[in-house]
Amino acid sequence: MSKNVVIIGGGPAGISAALYTARAGIDTTIIENGVHALEKAEKIENYYGFENGISGPSLYATGLLQAKNVGAKVVTDEVVGLSFEDKFKVSATSGEYFADSVIIATGTSRNKPKIENFEKFEGSGISYCAVCDGFFFRGKDVAVLGSGEYAMHEASVLLPFAASVTLLTDGEEPSAPVPDGIKVNTSKIEAVSGDAVLEKVVFEDGKTLDISGLFIALGIAGGADIAKKIGAVTNGTSVSVDENMATNIPGIFAAGDCTGGILQIAKTVYQGMLSGFSAIKFLKG
Ligand SMILES: Cc1cc2nc3c(=O)[nH]c(=O)nc-3n(C[C@H](O)[C@H](O)[C@H](O)COP(=O)(O)OP(=O)(O)OC[C@H]3O[C@@H](n4cnc5c(N)ncnc54)[C@H](O)[C@@H]3O)c2cc1C
Repeated sequence: MSKNVVIIGGGPAGISAALYTARAGIDTTIIENGVHALEKAEKIENYYGFENGISGPSLYATGLLQAKNVGAKVVTDEVVGLSFEDKFKVSATSGEYFADSVIIATGTSRNKPKIENFEKFEGSGISYCAVCDGFFFRGKDVAVLGSGEYAMHEASVLLPFAASVTLLTDGEEPSAPVPDGIKVNTSKIEAVSGDAVLEKVVFEDGKTLDISGLFIALGIAGGADIAKKIGAVTNGTSVSVDENMATNIPGIFAAGDCTGGILQIAKTVYQGMLSGFSAIKFLKG
């Protein structure tokens, strides 16, 4: 059977990667969920080829069409996990996608909560990856911060390990079905507290919740969140890559804003191209 690549992201990085992999005859699937940096870019004047500039949404839509025209499949779905089962398995809210190689091109993640003392407990009770760290909290009370599909996924991962899992929505209503066995608390959060490690969430109404672990799953899973799930090295919210866009996991590449550095289209297109080349080399030798 022919080898395939799944590209998570349909922005400039993901599309550039797809233009190379699809034209090299590799079965290419792009997964995107319509939430991206170009959405809010009214006019782009510093990218090659548009005499009067172009709007971000037009550039995005044109990119998707261009990738389709060279044979890439584009699916709209929200990726929540990445693992390995004979092949790489990309888990999304509407299905699973198996791949011989994966390119992470999710753009940058901007979801960090504004909660007092938050930074103090990152790594000391606050985690960004249930599948990576859930086991450390076996038999303990934990919470997940978020209200969408990604938060529900993280909460489900924790359920078999933890004594209890509470979904903290920080004033939002859950926007996805809450799995059985998960408690929900919609109160606004003021602070987190503890001595050396996280012990409590303090709500604006003065009430508190005793927990040992708090898993952050705001909005959608970012590139680093996805990379961590398969053990790829990350640096803050960026996926760590070498000069060929390879992560430390053979067959997993990353490109664009999700790798950090300069957040500009020209750079993401270059990195997308490189990641496409690297995936082709990985798959075809
Ligand atoms: C307001 C604004 C103005 C800008 N103006 C300029 C400018 O003038 N010039 C310039 O060069 N750059 C500009 N930029 C930066 C530029 O938009 C980014 O550098 C570029 O879009 C990054 O490309 P990317 O492919 O890495 O990520 P993005 O374009 O953000 O694309 C990310 C892709 O990943 C998908 N995705 C993310 N997470 C998931 C998930 N969990 N599941 C499924 N799909 C997912 C998204 O749907 C999207 O398809 C601007 C950015 C902003 C915010």
